[in-house]
Amino acid sequence: MKMYINGEFTSGKAKERITVIDPATEETLGDAPRGTSEDARAAVAAASASFPDWRRAPANERTAALHQIAAKIRAHHDELVRLLTKEEGKPLPENDEELWWVEETFDYYAELARHERGRVIPPGEPGQFNFVLKEPYGVVGCIVPWNYPLLLLAWKMAPALAAGNTVVIKPSELTPLSTLRLVEVACDHLPPGVVNVVTGYGPETGEPLVTHPDVPVIAFTGSLAVGQRIASLAAPMMKKLHLELGGKDPMVIAPDATMDMAVSGLAYAALINAGQVCTSTERVYVHESMFGRFSEELADFVGKLRLGNGLDEGTDIGPMIRDKFREKVEGQMADAVGAGANILTGGRRPSEFGRGFFLEPAVVTGVDHTMRLMREETFGPVIPIMPYKDFDEAIALANDCQYGLGASLMTHDARLVKRFFEEVKAGTIWINDPLTDNFAGPFGGMKMSGLGRELGQEGLDEYYDVKHVHWDVEGGVKEYWYPY
Ligand code: NAD
Repeated sequence: MKMYINGEFTSGKAKERITVIDPATEETLGDAPRGTSEDARAAVAAASASFPDWRRAPANERTAALHQIAAKIRAHHDELVRLLTKEEGKPLPENDEELWWVEETFDYYAELARHERGRVIPPGEPGQFNFVLKEPYGVVGCIVPWNYPLLLLAWKMAPALAAGNTVVIKPSELTPLSTLRLVEVACDHLPPGVVNVVTGYGPETGEPLVTHPDVPVIAFTGSLAVGQRIASLAAPMMKKLHLELGGKDPMVIAPDATMDMAVSGLAYAALINAGQVCTSTERVYVHESMFGRFSEELADFVGKLRLGNGLDEGTDIGPMIRDKFREKVEGQMADAVGAGANILTGGRRPSEFGRGFFLEPAVVTGVDHTMRLMREETFGPVIPIMPYKDFDEAIALANDCQYGLGASLMTHDARLVKRFFEEVKAGTIWINDPLTDNFAGPFGGMKMSGLGRELGQEGLDEYYDVKHVHWDVEGGVKEYWYPY
């Protein structure tokens, strides 16, 4: 496939191509240009040139254009679901849901953005008319990871366009094909330059966006390390940064929690997308009164989940994206076992597949906060569980982490719920229903999980700059001017 710059599919200045493989079979799926900094600059030039007209387009026009994107994606829904499954690995039902979210996100922001563009405020001086204008910034650089390539793209692209910005998209080098195909099938009605895609590696095509003087906003989802690199590059230019970074989400199981809800809810929260979700539950604290029984039931439940190719019906868990990510997870488990942890189930590479980056989902006990498995982001199918004595300790453990993305609690005790949502520092709190989203509510992290929010009104406001207009309608010489 080719990059998309100024309404044309092109290989740009790329001299090489990046091979994209299916993580379930390790077979080649296709390839994309290894873009260069010149390609990134060409895309920024196209996006800058199209900005004046796009920002002036009436709300009805932009709303219609965004609804059209949603409709065109829906018309290619099944094809995109299959491509995403082959490229990223997670099972078909999870990609079916990802595409549904993508389509609805474009519809949601199409409507939200025509709703208001600021506010009128009371004047500070007689005769003045004062109002606050929300204005688009210009070109937004959207840098996207591989784990939800289209969803995390839509959460940036839809509000950025709806607010009147133009975009340059940099998909992950591991998953460029679904992004290119989405743009190919759904963006052909937009004026050239409004949407552009440059493919390639982060330092070669991402950094030129981050340092380009005509890209005032960088919307990035990815790892903490790359987020820190982007923040340091952008700081001298005072760019607006929207950073959705890593997580190490806790789940607390209270003693009153129903066993089947807690076991199956936890397995879902920790293992969806083979644990490769920024908000995966990666640390679990179970009340000591139920720890033994809970561990056994969890291990039994997880041991029965079906690992397989995401295209096969009945697959619960697909492969990990690449071997190096699997090795990192295995390394964390080996360190924990070396320090006294026990793997109750899973943790091995299954022998039956032969190929693909599969890892059996694991349940690990005997863990504590000295272990990397309980401190660093794992991003794989592992559930480490640890007992706690009382709720004070559970909250202290939940907060003992550099990240603050999400946190979950399983209980029907309203007193515990109130303490949890007030005292745990995380951008999203889930009670009894982990990892759900809502278009109308913001998603994002506290502490080192990032800056800014996606979804909701907050997710649209990220793409507006704010201007306060003081207008003395009558005009005239003021008594507070010179001479005093
Ligand atoms: P990554 O940071 O390696 O890459 C993300 C994107 O940044 C890719 O497109 C990559 O090419 C690009 N990139 C890499 N180096 C760059 C540089 N120097 N300058 C500019 N761009 C650069 O992350 P990943 O492995 O693709 O994704 C997994 C990570 O993403 C995990 O840490 C996960 O927690 C995080 N994530 C966060 C959220 C959230 O909403 N908070 C959601 C999903 C994933």
